[in-house]
Amino acid sequence: MRQLVVIGNGMVGHRLVEAIRDRDTDGRWNIVVLGEEPRPAYDRVALSSYFDGATEEDLRLGDLGDRVTLRSGERATDIDRSAKKVTTSTGDVLGYDTLVLATGSYPFVPPLPGHDLPGCHVYRTIEDLDAITDSARAATTGVVIGGGLLGLEAANALRLLGVDTHVVELAPWLMPAQIDEGGGALLGRLIDELGVTVHTGTGTSRIEAGDDGRPAAVRLGEERIDADMVVFSVGIRPRDEIARAAGLEIGERGGVVIDDACRTSDPDIYAVGEVACHAGTVYGLIAPGNAMAEVVADRLVGGTAAFTGADTSTKLKLLGVDVASFGDAHGRTEGALDVVVNDAAGRRYAKLVVSDDASTLLGGVLVGDASAYAALRPLVGHELPGDPLALISPAGAEGGGVGAGALPDDAQICSCNAVTKGDLTHAIAGGACDVAALKGCTTAGTSCGSCVPMLKQLLEASGVEQSSALCEHFTHSRAELLEIVRATGIGTFSELIDRHGTGRGCDICKPAVASILASLGGGHILEGEQAALQDTNDHFLANLQRNGTYSVVPRIPGGEITPDKLIVIGEVARDFGLYTKITGGQRIDLFGARVEQLPAIWARLVDAGFESGHAYGKALRTVKSCVGTTWCRYGVQDSVRMAIDLELRYRGLRSPHKIKAAVSGCARECAEARGKDFGVIATDKGWNLYVGGNGGFTPRHAELLASDLDDATLIRYIDRFLMFYIRTADRLQRTSTWIENLEGGLDHLRAVVVDDSLGIAADLERDMAAHVAAYADEWRGVLEDPDKLARFASFANAPQAPDPTISFATERDQPVPAGPVALGMPAPPVGDARPAPNGSAPVEV
Ligand SMILES: Cc1cc2nc3c(=O)[nH]c(=O)nc-3n(C[C@H](O)[C@H](O)[C@H](O)COP(=O)(O)OP(=O)(O)OC[C@H]3O[C@@H](n4cnc5c(N)ncnc54)[C@H](O)[C@@H]3O)c2cc1C
Ligand code: SF4
Repeated sequence: MRQLVVIGNGMVGHRLVEAIRDRDTDGRWNIVVLGEEPRPAYDRVALSSYFDGATEEDLRLGDLGDRVTLRSGERATDIDRSAKKVTTSTGDVLGYDTLVLATGSYPFVPPLPGHDLPGCHVYRTIEDLDAITDSARAATTGVVIGGGLLGLEAANALRLLGVDTHVVELAPWLMPAQIDEGGGALLGRLIDELGVTVHTGTGTSRIEAGDDGRPAAVRLGEERIDADMVVFSVGIRPRDEIARAAGLEIGERGGVVIDDACRTSDPDIYAVGEVACHAGTVYGLIAPGNAMAEVVADRLVGGTAAFTGADTSTKLKLLGVDVASFGDAHGRTEGALDVVVNDAAGRRYAKLVVSDDASTLLGGVLVGDASAYAALRPLVGHELPGDPLALISPAGAEGGGVGAGALPDDAQICSCNAVTKGDLTHAIAGGACDVAALKGCTTAGTSCGSCVPMLKQLLEASGVEQSSALCEHFTHSRAELLEIVRATGIGTFSELIDRHGTGRGCDICKPAVASILASLGGGHILEGEQAALQDTNDHFLANLQRNGTYSVVPRIPGGEITPDKLIVIGEVARDFGLYTKITGGQRIDLFGARVEQLPAIWARLVDAGFESGHAYGKALRTVKSCVGTTWCRYGVQDSVRMAIDLELRYRGLRSPHKIKAAVSGCARECAEARGKDFGVIATDKGWNLYVGGNGGFTPRHAELLASDLDDATLIRYIDRFLMFYIRTADRLQRTSTWIENLEGGLDHLRAVVVDDSLGIAADLERDMAAHVAAYADEWRGVLEDPDKLARFASFANAPQAPDPTISFATERDQPVPAGPVALGMPAPPVGDARPAPNGSAPVEV
């Protein structure tokens, strides 16, 4: 077996090891990775989300597996090329057959007087962010030196930490490396409006210390800015020190020189990522680093892949402002012409750089609205499909009429994963019939996601009909059926299928229509015909578990509960012999109830003031909270009160999928609000609202919809968001995929919710007000109605007889299902013709 040593466990080092592991199926390579940082690799690109509540664990990249030895917290100190050995900071010496340098960069700090005061920081690692957070606790004003991409991220971080923030940029405009003067001017104005003071065209001369030895001010020539902390973000330098010492060839401005195979001047040593210098360029972006990693992995298993340069296009949302730059954004190609739309009033700047005959797109800059990026970037280097001005004029937004059809086959649609239009059309011809299938078979759209709109366009352009019919009984989508029910006032499934469908319905359309009727205030879900439509869980207002018993989950709004109520839950659990577990959603699950026990259990709970927690329904589940200002030293708002208000407001709300929410009292995010369908995080000015997170099969962080809201505005926006989702989402579609599939995505959602772009906000709010007014506890409704109570029997002819197939064992002093698990359920009561579905419902968390 051959020995590979990788120095550096950053993003590219990690990608390299993954890529080798995938290719080296015969186990030819034994891999050792040296990582100087005290933890496994994490997503540095998403580092700023640490300030938004992401934890170190959230950022962590995947496990490297058993075949790889990761030595975290151990630095390579010396390379002995003749002996092919690496010495580490622990004194160990590791032999290698092949060595890969993936040591990245360090942030450059200019040697200004005062640059090394405590309270002066850089922005690169988790430790840096922790140090910034510590300084921010005692700071009022902070200065970020450097107005590039990273500087603006740092400025946003300081803003989130409640520090009055200034950005100083030597160039005449922000982000000079990516965008031009016109775009920079608009970006500066938009960022200034967000409360970050921008100083451009000015250098920093020194940092003045106060009596405590920490920064007191930053001097910009004559000007002086009070500052309690400083963050440097003026560029990076490759960490090529051990390569230099080992005598490898180094680029003129630093970086280990590599050829197209990513090999250094020593054929047994490769370099990848930000430490590598290819054709005179050191790339400071992740995509080129990943491409280099793939090349080296291929070479190590005998391939001939080559790195020949990389796309440096970027699309970002900085402090909520869209910025994109692609191709020759600065118009450096000889004879290049600029076509510009500078709409200051509309807060939108767009520039296309085209060839001297205006026929070929060379690059472009978009600020304020980057929706055209997905369509324009793949066109770089290709003939334009029409008048360039028309492509960026406001009327031609969304790609200005650049349809997917206009792109040539070799246009790269997904630059993160190098997928061309040809690859995608080939996959579509091979049977990929929706975005999910295209993602699965080509990897397009699986990284930054900016090309997803193009995937949809390609499917449409290829004539793939994406049916939105609910099932064979209705040609309408769920959203269309909801509109029909709203417009006609139809109140029953039979009438709806008679007038707008065919046949007798199925297990897809019946619960979907039941949910629509319930969302629109159709009365108790077990009332009359509605009862027969419900799926298993709703049928018994309880979650079916794997041994045919049910779980009982009372609502505990915001997770707050009195000792007396806790005692009642304990007594009920003890008296009915129920397994008891505290859920991840801050309430208590009681497992193991037989169907005929449910009414007696709920009678005790309802008597004690509990309500249905809707753990069984596609409905609002919980609004989790931290302890907020009531108890926590860091809290800036009363998160418990807000969580309770929200949970009580939306309890019982039926929706296309279950909805979970959370409220955190500060940016530390102890309630994990960004993992929820909607999450609220307190700021010192109010509340930030995040939407579209979930912890399901494909975990995803929620994204910021609106900031610094007062209580009333927050609730109004959530009302609109939820009702818009309920009205327009597909059956069983989570908020995250719903937003992903919305034309215009989050921006469109924001336009509808915040700016009322469709003019339906009042209507959405009215529907929510009607829901709130009509709310009634479902379990109380059952207990008060003998007809509904009669459903709760294992056997129709012996209502109180327990199901003899159910038995329990004891584990850790609690009852658990006995024997092999039977995946099934008791048949529904006689008279209900529905077949018994197989499988169990997921346990409420
Ligand atoms: C806040 C932030 C935001 C960013 N945003 C974007 C973005 O939006 N888009 C984009 O494309 N790029 C972005 N980047 C840049 C991107 O993160 C880098 O291009 C990428 O991380 C480079 O990967 P790398 O593996 O080459 O270096 P790194 O990820 O820096 O990893 C190098 C690792 O090697 C370790 N190391 C160094 N020397 C030694 C040694 N002698 N022994 C052992 N270990 C050693 C270092 O400690 C480090 O952990 C961002 C960077 C930051 C800091
Ligand atoms: S999120 Fe809540 S509990 Fe956590 S630190 Fe902030 S206020 Fe305190």
